[in-house]
Amino acid sequence: MELTHQAEQKGFLVKAVGVGCAGLIDLPNRVVVRSPNLPGWVNFPLGQRLSQDLQFPVFIENDVNCISYGEYWLGGGRDLGDFLCIAPGTGVGGCLIVNGKAWQGEGYSAGEIGHMTIQPDGERCRCGNHGCLETLASASWLVWRAEQWLRQGAKSSLEKDVESPGGLSAEIIYHAAMAGDQMAQELFQLVGTSLAIAIANVVHLLGISAVLIAGGMANGWEAFIDPLQAELERRLTMMPPTDIRVVKAQLGDEAGALGGAFLAGREVSLTMGV
Ligand SMILES: [Zn+2]
Repeated sequence: MELTHQAEQKGFLVKAVGVGCAGLIDLPNRVVVRSPNLPGWVNFPLGQRLSQDLQFPVFIENDVNCISYGEYWLGGGRDLGDFLCIAPGTGVGGCLIVNGKAWQGEGYSAGEIGHMTIQPDGERCRCGNHGCLETLASASWLVWRAEQWLRQGAKSSLEKDVESPGGLSAEIIYHAAMAGDQMAQELFQLVGTSLAIAIANVVHLLGISAVLIAGGMANGWEAFIDPLQAELERRLTMMPPTDIRVVKAQLGDEAGALGGAFLAGREVSLTMGV
């Protein structure tokens, strides 16, 4: 109610609410089919339950799809047309925006680019597969790999950070890379080349010409974009690499909330004719 009041004070009339949630989302029925981070939510009618509490129509969508909608509406995706969004953070999410809508796939399963195999004999991912993009380009695996390389005797300025109370983080590794630390730079090279391989695979299949990189790891853009572009040139053999635009998200943490608003506006106009 407080948010409704704030919106009204700014001259907005609230007609619906959009909510982003991790997991497989049945958009028409406003149901969380299942969510790896919310184990109890199997076929959970989140939209309906929130509608009862909030007294507004509530529409729900996958969280990375919401980020993509936000960037499509007001951020880095505004003039891209159809695009692939990759969001490496704790994991690696993905979304394909086609004709202004997130491609849902059979069973709402599209967008799991984080579990595309990049290294057939790579590390075992939480999904059970080996060498998923997530094991190479997510923040959590970046930290894991840094700690492993240090244990194996790699020399790096990060040695002092791994002993500190908070330990390593993707942000600390990024700053070390930018300060010239070779191991940190190699870690981000791996992020960039792995993202490039995934992008080339998608581009070869779909002929899509724009990629937006969002999520927490987008903050490390300067540390991985050069190796990403170089690897993309090597991997894209069926079209000129210059035809593919790779851009950084612009809205940061607000992208998901803005995408939720975009979704609510679109769905309310479709369902209520306003
Ligand atoms: Zn996986």
